Amino acid sequence: MESRAGPGDPPRRRDGPCPGARDTRRTVSVTVPPLDPARRDVLDVAPAPDLPHPILGWRTWRVGRRAQRRTDLIAPLAGLPWPSRQPMIAFCASPTHSPPGDRCGCGLYAVPDPGTLDWGPSDHEVLGVVALWGQIVEGTRGWRASHGYPRFVVTGPGIAEEQRAALARRYGVPVHRADVPPRTLASLWSEDRAVADALRQGSDADVAALLAAEMPEWERRWRAEQASTEARACRRSRWHSLRSVLQGR
Ligand SMILES: [Zn+2]
Repeated sequence: MESRAGPGDPPRRRDGPCPGARDTRRTVSVTVPPLDPARRDVLDVAPAPDLPHPILGWRTWRVGRRAQRRTDLIAPLAGLPWPSRQPMIAFCASPTHSPPGDRCGCGLYAVPDPGTLDWGPSDHEVLGVVALWGQIVEGTRGWRASHGYPRFVVTGPGIAEEQRAALARRYGVPVHRADVPPRTLASLWSEDRAVADALRQGSDADVAALLAAEMPEWERRWRAEQASTEARACRRSRWHSLRSVLQGR
């Protein structure tokens, strides 16, 4: 199926952590229980299983707007949905290697610092932590992997409760609501790496508790920043008006 084997992230994606040939070509292999068909039942029950040494990193998805895609987590540029309750398997069109290629940009990406993620214009982009395993290439900004599955997702206030609940049911992972746009959260968390790492590596319960405890403060900072931006824009606008009046004399 294309959705299972499609390119989660195209080689020239804007938010790829690894610029291909400049990567540190250190490929590590992780023992992966979920790839054993005998363990499929485990995966079906717990889609983000406790792997021996998965890499946990930040990445973005887009959630669908149209009715038939509202419960899809979609790779931002490739536009392909990640499968639910089974691993996303990276795909590369090159016949010379299987993803992630050392000199290619293929593979499922994730980064340790959420501030290094790039964002598109869609207000339906969401932030999350993904578990990566299988073949992994470590690059300068993060990792590219052959296999991945989301661990949790954070959506902004623009995603309805009903859609969040449907995503959580379908993928079997927590889908949290934030009162702050995800891209703003990513930059706030990047300034406080202890928080970013606690979220990235914490248990579901720890993540939920940390988000609940800190969200009011993140929202306060976001609103303060918005107010300050608006005040600057207002001052600029007044100055332009005044200048026009003076120049018109
Ligand atoms: Zn490739």
